[in-house]
Amino acid sequence: MDEREADAARRVILSGWVTQGPEVAAFEREFAQLVGAPHACAVSNCTTALHLALLTAGVKAGDEVITVSHSFIATANVVRYCGASPVFVDIEPDTYNIDPELVAAAISPRTRAILVVHQMGMPCNLERIIAIARSRSVPVIEDAACAIGSEILWEGNWEKIGRPHGEITCFSFHPRKVISTGDGGMITTASGDWDASFRLFRQHAMSVPDMVRHGSPKVIFESYPTLGFNYRMTDIQAAVGREQLHRLSDIVSSRRLLAGRYEQLLAGIPGLRLPHEPPWARSNWQSYCVRLADGCNQKRVMQSMLDAGIATRRGIMCSHREPPYADALVSGSLAKSEAAQDHGLILPLFPQMTPSDQERVAAELKAACTLC
Ligand SMILES: *Cc1c(COP(=O)(O)O)cnc(C)c1O
Repeated sequence: MDEREADAARRVILSGWVTQGPEVAAFEREFAQLVGAPHACAVSNCTTALHLALLTAGVKAGDEVITVSHSFIATANVVRYCGASPVFVDIEPDTYNIDPELVAAAISPRTRAILVVHQMGMPCNLERIIAIARSRSVPVIEDAACAIGSEILWEGNWEKIGRPHGEITCFSFHPRKVISTGDGGMITTASGDWDASFRLFRQHAMSVPDMVRHGSPKVIFESYPTLGFNYRMTDIQAAVGREQLHRLSDIVSSRRLLAGRYEQLLAGIPGLRLPHEPPWARSNWQSYCVRLADGCNQKRVMQSMLDAGIATRRGIMCSHREPPYADALVSGSLAKSEAAQDHGLILPLFPQMTPSDQERVAAELKAACTLC
């Protein structure tokens, strides 16, 4: 972010309307157009987006939602917010994404939704999962928190994640993601009814939005037909987001270039496995996660990188290893999820990185791997 985002925030602050107003509406229109979705609804973050997605898809107490343990814990938490139970299935080791065949095996009469994740920006195998879901009449919700600007080959065309493939797609604008509004989220769908449901829920289930009442020449009294939430996005955030959208394609191009360079630089490190991009996927490379050789001590490698001034992160967490999910439902084994957390290593990747920065990361990683 630079002066452009700062100016956008300033413009809103001085405008007299600071939450869920004209900037939010413009951000929604521009986001919908960018990903190719009929509807986009802005909310306070991706966790609230996912909560409204599940509620709108009818997930309620006693239901099961098939998802991964190998994800940020918010993916599982939103299922619990609805009173339902996540059913964890394992991942494919090289994409870190949900294994479609395990989804098929986990479907039960209680399954109310399939919540897939495009982990670290890599599209999951939507074509296969949607075929399975349609054959069992179960909606697919996409946790695309990390996947803004990622693309998938769909019936011969490259399409952005968020164009309705599954029933609902949810995005995050947390600073950890590829573009940011500080905090923020977006929900896309093809269904006008579901979009209306998101809009009702996000503002206390108020029957008439503020802007409509404010602009009406006639007095209108609102009502509250159901239990709602305060999941609003502010206009200050939305104005920043509109500026960030202008940068998205450059950011994704530079991230893809950097990932391509890592692929060359790291190819020669013995035992190191690089992330796999299937031919039908174009990742935004929000994170670049390599897999250390089995005998390698992850913490020791990370420490030796840190000693050299290079910050890394371990593989994505597994929710079933945290206390709230110690007794969660699991279909099959989660061995691949655990291995991905225990042997994964996320390397620095950001648009300002230079070729020599990347060479230094590769050299230090090679040295650290040789030691273990
Ligand atoms: C970041 C993240 C979330 C949560 O997004 P927030 O905007 O912080 O609520 C959910 N799911 C995944 C996979 C994430 O990476």
